[in-house]
Amino acid sequence: MVQSTRRQLFQLAGLTALGSQVLRLTPAHAAAGPPPPSFPPGIEVYRQAYENWAGDVVAEAVWTCAPRTPAEVVAVADWARTAGYRLRARGMLHGWSPLTITPGEDDASAVVLVDTTQHLTAVSVAGDTVTVQAGATMDRLLVVLEQHGRAFLHAPAPGDITVGGALAIDAHGTAVPAVGEARPAGATCGTLSNLVVSMTVVAWDAAEGRYALKTVQRAAPEAKALLVHLGRALVVDVTLRTTADVPLRCQSWVDIPAAELFAAPGTAGARTVASFLDSAGRMEVIWFPFTDTPWLKVWSVFPTRPFGSRAVTEPYNYPFSDNVPEELSDLGASLVSGNGAATPAFGRSMLEGVRLGLLATQSADLWGPSRCTLLYVRPTTMRIHADGYAVMCRRADVQQVIHDLCGKHAELVAAAEERGEYPMNMPVEIRVTGLDDAAHVGVPGAEPPTLSACAPRPDHPEWDSVVWFDALTFPGTPGAMAFLAELERWVLDHFSGWAGVRPEWSKGWGYTAAGAWRDDTFLDGLPARFPTGSYESAVASLDDLDPHRVFTNALVDRLLQA
Ligand SMILES: Cc1cc2nc3c(=O)[nH]c(=O)nc-3n(C[C@H](O)[C@H](O)[C@H](O)COP(=O)(O)OP(=O)(O)OC[C@H]3O[C@@H](n4cnc5c(N)ncnc54)[C@H](O)[C@@H]3O)c2cc1C
Repeated sequence: MVQSTRRQLFQLAGLTALGSQVLRLTPAHAAAGPPPPSFPPGIEVYRQAYENWAGDVVAEAVWTCAPRTPAEVVAVADWARTAGYRLRARGMLHGWSPLTITPGEDDASAVVLVDTTQHLTAVSVAGDTVTVQAGATMDRLLVVLEQHGRAFLHAPAPGDITVGGALAIDAHGTAVPAVGEARPAGATCGTLSNLVVSMTVVAWDAAEGRYALKTVQRAAPEAKALLVHLGRALVVDVTLRTTADVPLRCQSWVDIPAAELFAAPGTAGARTVASFLDSAGRMEVIWFPFTDTPWLKVWSVFPTRPFGSRAVTEPYNYPFSDNVPEELSDLGASLVSGNGAATPAFGRSMLEGVRLGLLATQSADLWGPSRCTLLYVRPTTMRIHADGYAVMCRRADVQQVIHDLCGKHAELVAAAEERGEYPMNMPVEIRVTGLDDAAHVGVPGAEPPTLSACAPRPDHPEWDSVVWFDALTFPGTPGAMAFLAELERWVLDHFSGWAGVRPEWSKGWGYTAAGAWRDDTFLDGLPARFPTGSYESAVASLDDLDPHRVFTNALVDRLLQA
């Protein structure tokens, strides 16, 4: 049902129209090409469809292989160098930005996808670390950790993403220390990349004159560039620090007014986001369009089940959110095809669906192993476009950042409505994390991941928190790109001096009215958003590891070229 609804949405949106909204970095090739010549014997190479999460980067047939061993990955990499092909590691394809392939790449392009999900999936726990191959999903990793009493302090909401895909783009959940909360050993409030102890990549071996496996320890000079590399490397496995699993309670509210939750800092007696961060440290807000009471989730540490909380032993406890009823998704589809005026009714229905769903499934108060509440987004959830920004600021300014962001979004939505336009028809989502403090990984000499949105700013040591803000809408919604371009310009201007902005790499950024990932001012300004010289030095390290530019594509080149 959901698949067919998704197809309908694409049909309604019109893939051709969508194609014109996304970056066209590579010219389209009309004819199917011959198989890659002289591919390493014994490794099957086949055509496979590629589609990113929102369906706005699609290719009907891309040459793909699924190496069975790290040695086979190396063989393919070395072949690619000599054959003049590029390799793109692919995980679950659950992202937005064209970091894997760019629009127009197909089986006639000199590109081969390396599917890690088929064979490179081993996981093994040793004490407080886990070694995991890049194609294992977060679902699998967290299950194995739970079996050993281990976990991460926070994690991305979907479990069907690969470890390799998650590390490439500085994946995160939501967590800052609650007031008085000590950081547990082996935990970070920064990104998953900050927990890397070592990683094995495919890298150029100058002495041998070929690509080879290289294990890079966290304190090695090139590690910081590899920890978040945007697909400019090929990771085979990684060893991560873990923390002891502690049971979490996850409570939901749908009755706190947005005006109160997002109130200006210091508003007396208000149940603000900052107040929940102070008491629990972990929260997510989902604010449906044209509604007054967001869905707030708050996680808190509870070693034993609190009275009234429902014990859960498996994740994904919001089925009403992952499987939206057909009538509602049909209404959603109609918003894209000219029925924009129904957006307010759609937003209210979404919220009502959550309110009733929480009641019907007794999910407003859950308790269990951390995995069971930290994972809550299934791949059946609606496929929508998302922009994504990380605003770094002082903890004391988190509420101001959220107040300003939500206020501006609402102001732009209201202005659009006055013009009879409804560019935003899905929620705003907000989470908050800490920084990638390299000391958290417990490796002497470790440095933070250079390209992480949570990489500390030495010129602003007082900035200790990151507000992650996503504005969502159906792909193809009229006016959406212009709206997001305007919002982005404001975000960049407003959070300057007292806060700083970086992109959430896996999502949308760099907007013009024609689409995402293309605004030259944004793209050219990226290095300045990181500590002086660090972006350039990460580019140089990644070039050293792959001087033949086997692991790249047109967008990655645009982002990471000296
Ligand atoms: C519904 C939804 C919810 C999400 N929620 C969150 C969230 O809560 N937190 C969060 O941080 N992110 C979230 N994301 C974003 C997601 O974490 C990223 O898009 C992630 O990259 C997806 O992993 P994947 O396995 O699908 O990677 P893919 O999309 O297949 O690949 C992404 C990038 O990683 C590269 N890559 C993959 N494997 C390797 C490898 N072995 N070596 C080198 N490069 C590799 C690819 O080349 C590509 O550049 C969400 C995405 C969706 C669709």
